[in-house]
Amino acid sequence: MRTLVLLLAAAGLLAAADADLILHNAKIVTVDARFSVRQAVAVKAGKIVRTGTDREVMAERGPRTEVIDLKGRTVLPGLIDAHVHALEAGLSEFRAPLPPLDSYAAIQAYIRAQARQTPKGKWIVVPRTFPTRLKEMRMPTRDTLDAATTDHPVMFDASYVVIANSLALQVSGITRDTPNPPGGEIVKDAKGEPNGILKNAQGLLKGLERADTFTEPERLQALEDQLKRYIAAGLTTVGDRANTLEQIELWRKLKAQGRLPIRAVLTWRPDGQRPEAELLAAIRSAPLKTNDGDDWLRIGTFKLTLDGGMTIGTAFQRYPYGAFGHQLYGKTDADDRGQLFIAPEKLRTVMEAARGRGWQLTTHDQGGGAVDTFLDALEALDKVTPIAPTRSHLMHASFQSPEAIARMKKIGLAADVQGHWLYYDGPALEKVFGHEGMRYFYPLRSYRNAGIVLAAGSDHMIGHDKNRAVNPYNPFFSLWVEVARRTSAGDVLYPEEKLTREEALKTHTIWAAWLQFGDRVKGSIEPGKLADLVVIDRDYLTCPEDEIRAIEPVMTILDGKVVWRR
Ligand SMILES: [Zn+2]
Repeated sequence: MRTLVLLLAAAGLLAAADADLILHNAKIVTVDARFSVRQAVAVKAGKIVRTGTDREVMAERGPRTEVIDLKGRTVLPGLIDAHVHALEAGLSEFRAPLPPLDSYAAIQAYIRAQARQTPKGKWIVVPRTFPTRLKEMRMPTRDTLDAATTDHPVMFDASYVVIANSLALQVSGITRDTPNPPGGEIVKDAKGEPNGILKNAQGLLKGLERADTFTEPERLQALEDQLKRYIAAGLTTVGDRANTLEQIELWRKLKAQGRLPIRAVLTWRPDGQRPEAELLAAIRSAPLKTNDGDDWLRIGTFKLTLDGGMTIGTAFQRYPYGAFGHQLYGKTDADDRGQLFIAPEKLRTVMEAARGRGWQLTTHDQGGGAVDTFLDALEALDKVTPIAPTRSHLMHASFQSPEAIARMKKIGLAADVQGHWLYYDGPALEKVFGHEGMRYFYPLRSYRNAGIVLAAGSDHMIGHDKNRAVNPYNPFFSLWVEVARRTSAGDVLYPEEKLTREEALKTHTIWAAWLQFGDRVKGSIEPGKLADLVVIDRDYLTCPEDEIRAIEPVMTILDGKVVWRR
């Protein structure tokens, strides 16, 4: 008899009635093609084996099955954040927590506190902060930093733009006569003196010791800890969007040590400022390409950073930043449109080489000018071989236009969007570009009307807390902004661009999975797919709109195992 059972089991004939886990008495939002809602789900060997009514699914119950009565709670597919920077974020508070830096007073208090415990003459670095998110809505200058200390060189980090205090300029030998570096600018005040703002010119700072001096065990630990925080936020897959080859090795090491707590898809971003020949050689010799790896750790996209950031006035726009740009970004030229870091010819050549090696393509393209430049390059490639099968996409693409969206549709491009920036940066950007100028700012509805696939991501880069980080990686906050389009000032910015709740959920599930070539195995709750699920504390589909951002996960299930419980 025993032999018979084993034979039948081996033949799959006794597959029923031995699920590992059953969740029942629930509201299972499957995100299948018909957006079906079911009562129960059964899981076995890391896969979903059945969904249906409680009665149907209970048929999978065997003697060893763990059965969880969810008492009516909602279950979603495990959520995907298509865009994070996990290592950077993990390291940012690895040694000490960061205070919220939302005003000049907070920044100066941070510098003074650091100055008390830092030997005179040693550098102080203010963690990444954007002027669009400061109460003053004004780019700090050397004077802002000098007010806190003149005994230490200070660098204020706004990513592609940094601000140096007077001592930092002095020890770096930066004077009114220092020439601008290639592609960068030393911003001058009315008298022609450097005002401390360095655009894409951080390399001029001398003796700057950044906090990146972490040992490999520390880096692995910081990465692992951050990935566990993602799990606690209800995420089961992240797209990590700007890795060097060395960083990709670090991820592989984490996995080899059995310490990778979440599924990850890694973007390779070589330094696009390198000479073209070097970049081409790097692409030829890189021992990886899109879709290498497995369901836990996979190689994703080839990325170049094409322009700067809208939060610091260096995103390359179609039109000038104008008068308010002077205040917000410390601009001296009212006609300035931002910075394009890579010449169009070089972009096309490098992208063509990457495509030839089997890569999915993207660029960081914040401003409309950068969007158009990347579209030019991809259209040229598409003429030779259709680009659509590569699932290539725009990244950020904050400032869109109907023309650009039509071009995306024509050659089959998707978009990696950070809708929730609308909440944080919308009010400041509206002052820069005017209400009309914001018409196609994160135009999620326009994208959908064109049938364009949207993957949503937070661009989490600094801080550990899911709600206070830059940028917050709480996926329910992102879902809320996509459906509400409410800014931090309380206004609704172009309600005609809202998504429905169902569509918003897809940007963090099935569509994000599609962008990662993972839609066949995840992104919905359907038999055969990986058992990645999140149980939440209220009903996403019917709760009051304002409550969506307050939804909390109760349980995260990854690969069929309960990996986190509240
Ligand atoms: Zn990013």
